[in-house]
Amino acid sequence: EAIIHMRDLVKQYKMGDNVVTALDHVTFTVEKGDFVAIVGPSGSGKSTLMNMIGCLDKPDQGEYILEGHTVNTLKDVQLAKIRNENIGFIFQNFNLLGRLTAVENVELPLIYRGMKAKERRECALRSLEQVGIVDRANHYPNQLSGGQQQRVAIARALAGTPPILLADEPTGALDSKTSQEIMDVLIQLNNEDHTIILITHDRDVAQKAKRMIMISDGRLTETEGTQHESVHI
Ligand code: ADP
Ligand code: ADP
Repeated sequence: EAIIHMRDLVKQYKMGDNVVTALDHVTFTVEKGDFVAIVGPSGSGKSTLMNMIGCLDKPDQGEYILEGHTVNTLKDVQLAKIRNENIGFIFQNFNLLGRLTAVENVELPLIYRGMKAKERRECALRSLEQVGIVDRANHYPNQLSGGQQQRVAIARALAGTPPILLADEPTGALDSKTSQEIMDVLIQLNNEDHTIILITHDRDVAQKAKRMIMISDGRLTETEGTQHESVHI
């Protein structure tokens, strides 16, 4: 069952007389439970594609269907609603609020949903537990290592139970051992049926996903197989 379907998506940036085609007729589908890595060098269109998938920007042409909603024609207000309901974002630099504890950071998306304080706390603690960092619930971000902060950020992305996790260079600020640990967390979440889209310039990181899609000059090509070892029978 497709959770994302993009067809012939085009995004251009106009700079004076110059036009940059950042996405050049992009077509792809993500199934529920998939773990897709989109890999490409700097300037290949990764950020632009992430902005499209995450409903942060709209294409100039083409169709984008997310969880049955045709989002390419939506107004910004509706787009924001669809984004909040469907996408949990994970960033390179974690984007945690420094004046809030780990558990308070994870509660943020739940406040926007109008959840009551007690339920919110329980829900946030469950998310922290799920990614193995509940013992640091009351620490502030600057008391945590990079890998621990990224776990908190993943817990925050999970807290609102969005159908899709969208991770933009989640290991970009981490050393290779910590990167591996964070990829293991994502693999575990995928094995628990979360749909994950990972954007990276690092082929070794991309190899951990189930599928790898290369992006180059705004065009996608799917590669054969990855190292993903999870067994689903
Ligand atoms: P990546 O994330 O892979 O580095 P981007 O999506 O940021 O690639 O960029 C794709 C192309 O679009 C590049 O040529 C980039 O310079 C151009 N681009 C991206 N954003 C803008 C913008 N806001 N204005 C003009 N050009 C842009
Ligand atoms: P990333 O490290 O995520 O690939 P980028 O360097 O591609 O980030 O882009 C960072 C921001 O700058 C994005 O919002 C992108 O749209 C914008 N941007 C990228 N290239 C250009 C450009 N040539 N002109 C203007 N804005 C750009």
